[in-house]
Formats: sequence, structure tokens, C-alpha cells
Amino acid sequence: MSEPVKYLLDESRMPRSWYNIVADLPAPPPPALHPATHRPLGPDDLAPLFPMTLIEQEVSTERDIEIPAPVRDIYRQWRPSPLYRARRLERALDTPARIYYKYEGVSPAGSHKPNTAIPQAFYNREAGIRRIATETGAGQWGSSLAFAGALFGVEVEVFMVRVSYQQKPYRRALMETWGATCTASPSDRTAAGRAVLAQRPDHPGSLGIAISEAVEVAAQRDDTNYALGSVLNHVLLHQTVVGLEAIAQLELADDYPDVIVGCTGGGSNFAGIAFPFLGAQLRGGRSIRIVAVEPAACPSLTRGEYAYDFGDTAHLTPLTKMHTLGSTFTPPGFHAGGLRYHGMAPLVSHVQQLGLIEARAYLQLACFEAGVLFARTEGILPAPEANHAVRGAIDEALRCKEEGTSRAILFNLCGHGHFDMQAYMDYFAGQLTDQTYDEGELAMALAGLPSVTTP
Ligand SMILES: *Cc1c(COP(=O)(O)O)cnc(C)c1O
Repeated sequence: MSEPVKYLLDESRMPRSWYNIVADLPAPPPPALHPATHRPLGPDDLAPLFPMTLIEQEVSTERDIEIPAPVRDIYRQWRPSPLYRARRLERALDTPARIYYKYEGVSPAGSHKPNTAIPQAFYNREAGIRRIATETGAGQWGSSLAFAGALFGVEVEVFMVRVSYQQKPYRRALMETWGATCTASPSDRTAAGRAVLAQRPDHPGSLGIAISEAVEVAAQRDDTNYALGSVLNHVLLHQTVVGLEAIAQLELADDYPDVIVGCTGGGSNFAGIAFPFLGAQLRGGRSIRIVAVEPAACPSLTRGEYAYDFGDTAHLTPLTKMHTLGSTFTPPGFHAGGLRYHGMAPLVSHVQQLGLIEARAYLQLACFEAGVLFARTEGILPAPEANHAVRGAIDEALRCKEEGTSRAILFNLCGHGHFDMQAYMDYFAGQLTDQTYDEGELAMALAGLPSVTTP
């Protein structure tokens, strides 16, 4: 019999709950703090921006949190997503490694982001919210929330980082097709945007600025909430459906990962695939290496400080303890727009601090080289963000070859790159460079970290 290439789960085997890693951690993560008082945040502090169900999930210590039936009904359109064995890539690398990838590009928006956009739109709608403001980098999150908003009848207003707005016009068209509005950020529509433009009219934008604009808009109206596509605990929670499925699919393959690789922007797709396995390890299961791959041009985990910082540039958000490059840090306009965030999810930062994961940074050319090899062997063209995970997985497989050992490598192919073809065209034209950040700017952004004294 020929060897299987994909491992599929029946719809009936889709997870009924998300997995909350906080239940299994040896130490709880540090609490989020109020931006003015520096005291631990209470539910009421977040109520102007989020529905209570999401606030409860944000601080929950329960291990399993039920996925509501209306969310499961929509998930079913593309979930369970396929798990593939990358047999042609393995042969091309001539590696004894067994490479598996979970493919999230099968969602309508083409990435893992709808896994959280759907429940976020659902809970907001349940709470009577008519409008959600948000930010987006490359447009993956904005388009996913636009899709979710269309299904639940919630208006979606997106602030898109200007450099991506220019690089990726089709993502904006996608958002508009699903009925959302999309504004380039910094914009003159908010005080936060106007303040940035006054200093630098040609500012390329950053996720930190776009978040300030969206939070400002959401805070102005009672019927409007804010939504974030990564970083927060409840977002990481929703993404665990990916890893929970992967556990069942690897059982079908009669295998278990030795190494898990994910790319990290805010940390949600990485946590989504890794946390269910890490939880099993914390409960006494097998130990695995877990590798977070980030861009060398925005290296929060490998070069940032583990400190309390703001999630946005205008300092409207709570303070969270995370690996951060400083909230005023503006990374260069490299193509993996979804990885251009100054901070890292507090939960991912926490497990890094506990020594439970490793982090690694790559320059963009090596990532595109890996993505092109992947496309030429497996056929699927990865998003520039996902290329970081592909690079990480390939390097692990090459290490197996060097050492002559066969290990099982699992990575999250978190999205396809069909709306990112300009990046590939630039790469083939030799116009892509290994941009890195300005050391002076990083030092300045880090020097501006708020001073927070915690008990
Ligand atoms: C948004 C996005 C990322 C980065 O966000 P995470 O929260 O780190 O997952 C990575 N890849 C794709 C395809 C994205 O859309």
C-alpha cells in the first residue's frame, strides 16, 4: 500500500472545547495592570472594549472551555483542517526526519485567524454589540474579522498598517467584499493617528499605532467594541483547536512530535499548535522541543526585554508583562506584515521565561528561499509569515540529516500566500533584502519602557 500523505479527521471529531494552558502551568502568568494605577486589572476595566464572556476567558484557569455550538457550526466549513506528511519535501532534503504540517490556509480567509474571529464576533453579537473596530498588519486579521462580521451581522472597521495597505491592495478588497471598511493607519480619523502624522507625515505605520486608533474608535461608542487578532489569552485559547486536532491526527499516523515549530508575530498560531502538546508534557507526557521562529527585523523573543509594556503606541491599552522591543519601536517594512509587532503574547513570553520553549530569529531571504522550496515540492505557496516556520522546520530536518537521526517534526503552516505575490515577485526580481532594524531606534524604544514596580 502507498504511504499516506494526509491525515483527516471526520467533522464529528472536531474538538468540543478549547484548551487553556493556564490550568497546567507550574506558575501563573503575571497579571495585566491598569495603565494609570499599575494595579492588577479588574473585569470592569476591560468592559468598555470586550464582551464579558471574552473577559472571563482572558482570566480563566479552567482547563477546557466549551466551544459554543454556533461557532462549531461555522468551524465545520473548514475544520478539522488537514494534517499533511511532507513526503516530497523530505525527499528533496534527503532527510531521515518525518515532517508533518497542519494546514490552516484552508479557511475562507486563508489563515488561522478565523479560528478566533468567529468566536469573537459571536460573543460580541451575543452581547448586543453592532460594530467592532480593529487593526490589521498584512490584512489577514482584518479580512478574517470582516468574514466573521458578515456571518454574524456585525459591522467591522479596520485600521490597516499603511505599508501593508500599499503592499497588499487585494487584502483590502477582500475586507470590503465581506462588507468591512478599511482605513490606512496612521490616519487623520483619530487623535492617536493625527499625533503620529504631525510628527512624521509619511509614517509607514505599525501595529502599535493601528491598535491605538482602533481602541480610540471603540472607546467612543457604547455599541462598538474592540477586537485583537493575537496576543491576548483568549485569542491563544481559540487557536488551540489547531493543536488539539493535530494530536488526534498524529495518533492516526501512529506518531508523536519530537519538535514543534511555529512562527511568532503576536504568538497565536504558535500557541495554537504548541500549547495542547505542551500541556500534555506538563501533565507528565512526553517532553518535546518547541521552537518559536521570529523575524530578525522584529525580534521580540530573542532581543526584547521581558518587562511590563503597553500593547500600543499611544498607551491606551493595559500593561502586560511580555517580551517587548518597546511600544514605540517601528520595524522596517519587510513582507511578513503579520510579524511586525513590538511585543509577544504574555503567555508565550511566560513559557519562554519558564524555559519551556526555544526562540530563533531569521532574516527574510532565508525564509523566502525555504518557502519557494516548499512550494516546489509540496505545491502549497506559504504566506511570508509562514515561511519562517517552513525555514525553521527545514533547518530541524537538515539537522536530523547531519546527525543521522529520524525525528518527527510538526509545524503550523498558518496561511497561504496568494495575496502576497508581490513579495514573491520582489524576491524573484532580487529586490528583497535582508532588512534589519535600527539598533539606535531599538535602544531608544527600550529606554522608553514604562517603569512599573510590582509586588
Ligand atoms: C497574523 C498572522 C501571523 C502572526 O500572528 P500570530 O498571532 O503570531 O499567529 C502569522 N501568520 C499568518 C498567516 C498570519 O495571518
